[in-house]
Amino acid sequence: MRRVFCLFLLLLFITPVFAEGLPSVEDSVLADDGSVEICYTIPQTCEASLVLLDLQGHEIQTVFTPRTLLAGRHVLQLPAGFFAPELNDGTYTLLLRTAAGEARAILTVGNPSVQKPEPTKESDPIEQPAASLEAITPALRSSYHPQHENCYWCTPMDITDEAAVWGMLTAPMTVVNLNQRDHTVLYAAPDTNSEQIAMITGDSQGVHVLETLENGWSLVETYSSSFFDSDVKNWNAFETGYIRTDKLKQVNVNQQYGIVIDKLTQRMYLFKDGHLETTLACSTGLYNTKQPYNETRSGEFLIVSFTGAITSDKLICDYALRYNDDDYLHEVPYSKNADGSKNYKNCEAKLGIRASHGCIRVQRLTNADGYTMKKVYELLKESTRATKLNVKMVIWEDYQGRQIPIPASDTPLYYNPNGGQSYHSTANCPGVRKQYLPMTGFTYGELENAPYSKLTPCTNCWPDLRVADIEKINAEHLTQSPGEIMSIIGK
Ligand SMILES: [Zn+2]
Ligand SMILES: [Zn+2]
Repeated sequence: MRRVFCLFLLLLFITPVFAEGLPSVEDSVLADDGSVEICYTIPQTCEASLVLLDLQGHEIQTVFTPRTLLAGRHVLQLPAGFFAPELNDGTYTLLLRTAAGEARAILTVGNPSVQKPEPTKESDPIEQPAASLEAITPALRSSYHPQHENCYWCTPMDITDEAAVWGMLTAPMTVVNLNQRDHTVLYAAPDTNSEQIAMITGDSQGVHVLETLENGWSLVETYSSSFFDSDVKNWNAFETGYIRTDKLKQVNVNQQYGIVIDKLTQRMYLFKDGHLETTLACSTGLYNTKQPYNETRSGEFLIVSFTGAITSDKLICDYALRYNDDDYLHEVPYSKNADGSKNYKNCEAKLGIRASHGCIRVQRLTNADGYTMKKVYELLKESTRATKLNVKMVIWEDYQGRQIPIPASDTPLYYNPNGGQSYHSTANCPGVRKQYLPMTGFTYGELENAPYSKLTPCTNCWPDLRVADIEKINAEHLTQSPGEIMSIIGK
């Protein structure tokens, strides 16, 4: 059961060199281990896509869908297995499409001299399923992949599929029938003398039931909920193991609200009545080798208590919602200044990146939809009072291969030409004084040009990050799973 995750020691380098003229792509060779490096040059920042064609010119795989790319030479390193394994030895065409024109190059696979015979008939373009990277589920590390309807573990981590996410957030879940502050263990075999491989928190933490055995045990999967003082020290690792079936219970959940926390985007997504109601910036846990338990435990949870204010070290966290024993979703914390006033500065500066000791810190300033953590807290409290059912909150791991889509060039943005320092997602941002509203529009594609190139993203309405910042996050996730810590510190 114990796994050490191999990390692909690959990097995506972006060289910010301006190049004149047409786009170009260089010939590439698939390495023996199946990885490949593709270099291409974009003359000016624009939308581009890259696909792989066979000798007949049929598109057989998308390397990346249309996205805004910065001008310059790019080196894209793709891990082994990125291209479909059934790629026969031979030569293929890489086709780079941009607004400024197309460019082609050769991708050589294996030894072209032993190329298998080509299809003789004029066939239709080969149907290729969407890149598997887009279908990463929370059960990525599983050996079992059942297809349960509306199941957290079986649903791809794709926030744009509102129907799938809503189905998942409102489906019943299976928890361990224990007090909210109690824990149990997952065993390596259906036997209490076997190795204890993971911790599970009662009442709040969901498990994925794979099989109910006749001997009274169930085979389940979940992320290990180990805290600093847990018996089993297995930090947020995905494990498959056994638990007594009579310890499990299925519970119904709130049908009005549900929450997704995504470690990749560091955003909290509030769903209401079937749609994505609003998005708030957050910070999940930042671990280090001494405190591996700071990594926010991923998985499927129920919010079990409206705790209110909590204190952690010298920080005060308002509007805390308790889940998973001692983990909370709460407003970004503050410290007290000498004069007693609240100082949010330090913690607010870290919203949008990992920063906490395991809790999830959520934005305090009003966003474009009029939401704050305070408002979320009050709405959930009202809804659960009415239904008595707990709200489901799921936490998505930022597995290697997950990528943030680059926004379309025509995505509207706004700024205040009278001295504003930020760019915004809404013309009427609550963070800007009324006399400057509505603000002046421009587009995401113009963001790197004057006078927009120095603007920073607004911390009220949280517009899309700049291409370079998204590419930095994506490059990191091409090579590693930052939330998986076993490979770095062992157990
Ligand atoms: Zn499932
Ligand atoms: Zn704003």
